[in-house]
Amino acid sequence: MLHLAPRSEGRTRSEIAAATLMLCDAGIMSYSGHVSARLPGADASFLIQSIDQPRNGLRPEHMIVCDLDGRSIAADPKLRAPIEVALHAEIYRARPDVKSVAHFHYDLATSFTLVEDVPLRLVKNHAVRWRSGIPVHDDPGHVAGAERGKALTRTLGPHHACQIRAHGQVIVAESVPAVFHDTIHFIENADAHHAAASIGKVRPLSAADLDLFEAELKRDRLVDKLWAYYLDGSRRSGVLPEGLEL
Ligand SMILES: [Zn+2]
Repeated sequence: MLHLAPRSEGRTRSEIAAATLMLCDAGIMSYSGHVSARLPGADASFLIQSIDQPRNGLRPEHMIVCDLDGRSIAADPKLRAPIEVALHAEIYRARPDVKSVAHFHYDLATSFTLVEDVPLRLVKNHAVRWRSGIPVHDDPGHVAGAERGKALTRTLGPHHACQIRAHGQVIVAESVPAVFHDTIHFIENADAHHAAASIGKVRPLSAADLDLFEAELKRDRLVDKLWAYYLDGSRRSGVLPEGLEL
């Protein structure tokens, strides 16, 4: 198991940096979007990257600590929070179960919000994570300010992901490795749905299919397995720098 050691602030900073770098390398994150995580031992604050730092060069020292009003409490005044920090802050305020949030703008998944008659369905087995639903937030604007953050959080409700119409995705989970795992599978499901639709009529997974997969699912083990696979490959290819505390 990878996750037996208690999380520290340093390790969480490294996890956010690694997840962001690997999502950039996978073509899921680009010049905007962010991964955040609650600060270990301090549930009313969280770590998120600074607004100005390019995602594909993110390092642990580029994270700032924000409170649940989205205010930066960073020691370095040059480090400012991203415009959409309220998206993260209001989810953490409303959802004690959420320890990490990813927000990104992946066009192929977003395209399901641009049409009227083809909602994103569950077609791959790992999409069982979203069997409660993938709501679509109707306001396509930046999730900037508390009011928009609260509105987005109401749309998300008790679910584990939502789409923002004509904008992007929000994924929530119990840790940074888990939010990374879920993001990879969310995109895999959207890609597969799109590919299937280009061949013929899409056959989504049935409730019985999802029951079967859910009964066999070992989530912690799958999260560890996928995280280890990406860390290993990303170290070999030079995507991850030396010295991350992982
Ligand atoms: Zn956005």
